[in-house]
Amino acid sequence: MSDLATRLSQLDAHLARFREGGIVNLINGQDVPGSGGSFETRSPVDDSLICAVSRSTAADVDAAAKAAKAAFPAWAAMDGTKRKAILHRIADLIVERAEEIALCECWDTGQAWRFMSKAALRGAENFRFFADQAPGARDGQTLHAPGQLNVTSRHPIGPVGVITPWNTPFMLSTWKIAPALAAGCTVVHKPAEFSPLTARVLSEICRDAGLPDGVLNLVNGFGEDAGKALTEHPDIKAIAFVGESKTGSMIMKQGADTLKRVHFELGGKNPVIVFEDAEIERALDAVVFMIYSLNGERCTSSSRLLVHDSIADDFHAKLEARVKNLKVGHPLDPATEIGPLIHKVHYDKVMSYVEIGKSEGATCRAGGSRVGEEGWFVRPTLFTDATPDMRIAQEEVFGPFLTSIRFKDDAEALSIANNVAYGLTGYLWTNDLTRALNFSDKLEAGMIWVNSENVRHLPTPFGGVKASGVGRDGGDWSFDFYMETKNTSFALGAHKIQRLGA
Ligand code: NAD
Repeated sequence: MSDLATRLSQLDAHLARFREGGIVNLINGQDVPGSGGSFETRSPVDDSLICAVSRSTAADVDAAAKAAKAAFPAWAAMDGTKRKAILHRIADLIVERAEEIALCECWDTGQAWRFMSKAALRGAENFRFFADQAPGARDGQTLHAPGQLNVTSRHPIGPVGVITPWNTPFMLSTWKIAPALAAGCTVVHKPAEFSPLTARVLSEICRDAGLPDGVLNLVNGFGEDAGKALTEHPDIKAIAFVGESKTGSMIMKQGADTLKRVHFELGGKNPVIVFEDAEIERALDAVVFMIYSLNGERCTSSSRLLVHDSIADDFHAKLEARVKNLKVGHPLDPATEIGPLIHKVHYDKVMSYVEIGKSEGATCRAGGSRVGEEGWFVRPTLFTDATPDMRIAQEEVFGPFLTSIRFKDDAEALSIANNVAYGLTGYLWTNDLTRALNFSDKLEAGMIWVNSENVRHLPTPFGGVKASGVGRDGGDWSFDFYMETKNTSFALGAHKIQRLGA
């Protein structure tokens, strides 16, 4: 059997139980169907039905939030070393089921196996990293003042809501849920309606690893009912959200009445800036990788190429050859570099930008068309000679779609780079470190890589500025979000207190 045929038969075995019983919620350790009936989830590979998924209502969210509230005191009070052990067991089980997770993720989202097999393991790494921080998460500082000793301590904020998108859903769910659990919070997770498979697997893994009932609850459903109800629920103290900027804005409004703390990881239109002194071949590798891997459905993708005029012709020619050579195919084929887009509405959106780019006068050097007649495959697309004001240079397309703009000097590059609504990441390619330092200092972005693709080190901060996000994740920044800091001040002596009314 070919690799693809083997993987398809393994996938079939994993999907059998979902086909039979559908995907139901997991609330307080129990499998419970949503009270709003069910909806269908389909594969982007061929639009075939995968299974039915519970459609949750506000009543289901209420049950999940109540379970999370009831489980909170014991989980928060548990010794950090015990929480650490449970979270490591979760990581172990993720590794054991990594193949199943990767297969389901490929079929559910259209992402290529070569990336998803790593994403499953990165999920385990997220749990291990935050597991190791759990014993010290409550630690604070001592701050001396004249006559006073201040002692700070941190306390988990309470039950939290985690709302995740359909792009790399397993990895992103673990990135949010692991620190929340390590901090001592309990969780209600609402995964994206378009990619529910691996969220269900994760909730089963947590249960099997010995996570107490009610500590992680799964509610499936749509944003406008289940997601909205979660953001409005009075027992949910904070919402960690990953998704579109306009959804973040809605969540902020929905959470206002209950004064929700929010953490947002939102959209991007990230620039990769190739200066004339860059190491061209490595820059080319990074440019291609950072927009075409993960189908371009990646918040940190470098969707805008800013290239120095003096090297632009040569760079574009090389880029065009590479883009035309990308392998579009079945996500479970090990040779595939680009799979189908998540669903038809998204496919239509990405294709609409091809027409927009052409009508705006940019040059379509590669792609811009559908691949095959089944599934939502788009040929990797490259537009060159765009101007900064064009919609293809301003708006998030979220597909295998690169817009290239020329610049003449650093000041112009900076102005183009900053003149968008977003500010998530930036990538600089230059051998001049002073130039890189000056540029990164002024670049409006939460994360900048110099002479590198996006390489994550989990203790570093992750997040965006402007319309790309609110707050930071990673390392201790995650605990800042999931915990409250308390200050207790002790008088060191019997100092004189102002006497009133004597
Ligand atoms: P989306 O905003 O449409 O949906 C994300 C989640 O929010 C889903 O679970 C959805 O059901 C839910 N939701 C929708 N409306 C809601 C509401 N009113 N109240 C509560 N929940 C609601 O995003 P998407 O299309 O699934 O994901 C793609 C977007 O995510 C892109 O813009 C991408 O850039 C962004 N993203 C950002 C990061 C980052 O780290 N900055 C990471 C991944 C994805």
